[in-house]
Amino acid sequence: MPDPTAYVGRFAPSPTGPLHAGSLVAAVASYLDARAHGGAWLVRIEDIDEDRSVPGADRAILELLQALGMQWDGEVVWQSQRKPLYQAACERLAGHIFPCGCNRREIADSRLGLAPDGSAIYPGTCRNGLAPGRSPRSLRVRVPDAGAENELIRFTDRWAGVVGQHLASESGDFVLKRADGFWAYQLAVVVDDAEQGVTDIVRGADLLDSTARQIYLQRLLGVPTPRYLHVPVVRNADGEKLSKQTGALATRPGDEAAGVAALLDAARFLGLPSTRADTTAGFWQAAIPAWASRYARLR
Ligand SMILES: [Zn+2]
Repeated sequence: MPDPTAYVGRFAPSPTGPLHAGSLVAAVASYLDARAHGGAWLVRIEDIDEDRSVPGADRAILELLQALGMQWDGEVVWQSQRKPLYQAACERLAGHIFPCGCNRREIADSRLGLAPDGSAIYPGTCRNGLAPGRSPRSLRVRVPDAGAENELIRFTDRWAGVVGQHLASESGDFVLKRADGFWAYQLAVVVDDAEQGVTDIVRGADLLDSTARQIYLQRLLGVPTPRYLHVPVVRNADGEKLSKQTGALATRPGDEAAGVAALLDAARFLGLPSTRADTTAGFWQAAIPAWASRYARLR
């Protein structure tokens, strides 16, 4: 359990395009929660999937955050520069990981169904060793068998309440190092949050289903589990999650009025409808106490 008097939060965008309305909501929520608790707010660029990163998108995100008055504490870190940390964590997990030779099609063909996040549930094919003639493609971490006492991961989310996930039936052994050689998001995020001393994770509810796997890795690595708050995901009129195409922000650094409008939209979405402001500084002056009175209680 984190020290209840300490608070280190973070915003961790993927630089796959400009900040959109959905990612701005996550940024605003994490910033409000950190400042409402007098805590630190870190920014980490999650560019571990280097094939999806768009050159310059990281700088554009950082410039917009600053223009909107969200000043981070400490140095920004880039996951692509932290690979030795992920390698070291993987070595610490040695007794729990195994090479997997399966491709996507073979796992889908096992028909165990899909995990809540849409990935196919791994049937355990290679957990006791690669079949003769197979070569390793990825590295997976073994999860406890169905019915084992540590197989059900339960945690309290400050927004969603008590959440439980059975790792064996809802995830299966999951990937830590991908077939394309990149470290998996689940490992990188756990290693970084622990190494950066993050106590509070405020992010979009699209990551709620990943949380149990991350808590499992925290336990295997012997690092603390942070508090979690998953805010609702912004959807368009058709109920689809916003993308960089559909959720583009009409604001650019230097356009104060559009910036304030984008912040007020985010605040309204987060349940702070009476926030009023004409400037970005005025927005934070109004929104931080509003957030504090509504959401500040930890647990
Ligand atoms: Zn396999």
